[in-house]
Amino acid sequence: MKKIAILGSTGSIGTQTLEIVRDNPDLQVTGLAAGTNIDLFEKQVREFRPRLVSLQSEQACKELKVRLADLDVEIVPGMEGLLRIAEMEEAQVLVTAIVGMIGIRPTIAAIKKHKDIALANKETLVTAGHIIMPLAAQMGVSILPVDSEHSAIFQSLQGENRDRVSKLLITASGGPFRGKTRSELEHVKLEDALKHPNWSMGHKITIDSATLVNKGLEVMEAKWLFDVDLDRIQVVVHPQSIIHSMVEYVDGGIIAQLGSPDMKLPIQYALFYPDRRPMAGKRVDFYELGNITFERPDMETFTGLKLAMRAATEGGSMPTVFNAANEKAVSLFLNRKIRFLQIPEIIEMCMDAHRKIADPDVEAILKTEKETYELIDTKY
Ligand code: NDP
Repeated sequence: MKKIAILGSTGSIGTQTLEIVRDNPDLQVTGLAAGTNIDLFEKQVREFRPRLVSLQSEQACKELKVRLADLDVEIVPGMEGLLRIAEMEEAQVLVTAIVGMIGIRPTIAAIKKHKDIALANKETLVTAGHIIMPLAAQMGVSILPVDSEHSAIFQSLQGENRDRVSKLLITASGGPFRGKTRSELEHVKLEDALKHPNWSMGHKITIDSATLVNKGLEVMEAKWLFDVDLDRIQVVVHPQSIIHSMVEYVDGGIIAQLGSPDMKLPIQYALFYPDRRPMAGKRVDFYELGNITFERPDMETFTGLKLAMRAATEGGSMPTVFNAANEKAVSLFLNRKIRFLQIPEIIEMCMDAHRKIADPDVEAILKTEKETYELIDTKY
């Protein structure tokens, strides 16, 4: 029996993780945490019977307590709940499917308790990779990537000598606005930005895919996960999303991982690594597919990717500013307070205003996040 705890169980990754648990009786859920979706969360707790659970607010936890009065389950609100679940004795793996930098402290707490991390929460590595990766190495725990691109790279590295890698090729669908000009992007609607061509995901990452910010976050995530310099990570637009990413080796050979766009595969691979379990779902039919294509990313139109590369190059606290400004700007866009092209504008404004801290600790990262939010609040 493999015991797992999940942070963000009501989201896109969280619910798909629970579908995998449903299909694999040797997985057991010991802890669950979510934000505000109490109705779905109650159903999940009733079905999977974790010992410890958490919702974001005290009020929501009080209501949950009333609803679950017939069950023997401990309910702890907010960050304390996230930390308790991250550290719980009986879990072997923590699935970090929460969105945003709120995942940093629970991820660190779990690593300190020797839990392996099935990591979807990329914002954590982007902002605190310099703390998390050495800590994981010190504690002897594995950071198993859930992001499809990073899982593809991880799979393409199996059995190979890492010293023989020449570069990582991260594929990108290009999002719903691929091929559009800046003037066409001027007045795009929220509904259009939420229509991802291939993947069904949470709102925040779907907008990040439309701006190409997501690809920038993935480049930073890959740098930390695979310890590869930025100049050896290349983004390749591949609109069909069949090749999930590739590794080029020093002899020019390239190993890729392919499959239908379905997040359950990388989630399941992370949970059972190094095993592969059977999984139902659509298979790639190469006759039907016909051809697959590749393009250079348009970084002049989608400046989010260009800004991400700048943040990654500058390093230190700059990726935190990039990420925090993006989180806030995306939330303003989702609430229809700003236009699509204002997302990269806000990120750039915050990066220009920031005085970089070279080697930020968790306190400094969270302070930088707060200051970035405050700067945006004064203007929008
Ligand atoms: P969703 O928005 O669908 O889900 C986010 C989850 O986090 C929900 O369960 C939400 O709870 C919970 N949550 C949010 N804020 C808090 C909080 N303060 N306290 C506790 N729980 C909270 O996101 P996704 O599943 O799409 O993404 C999750 C992470 O995985 C992100 O970092 C994303 O970048 C990454 N990722 C996602 C992919 C995908 O296919 N979706 C692919 C690769 C990476 P509630 O809804 O109840 O409020």
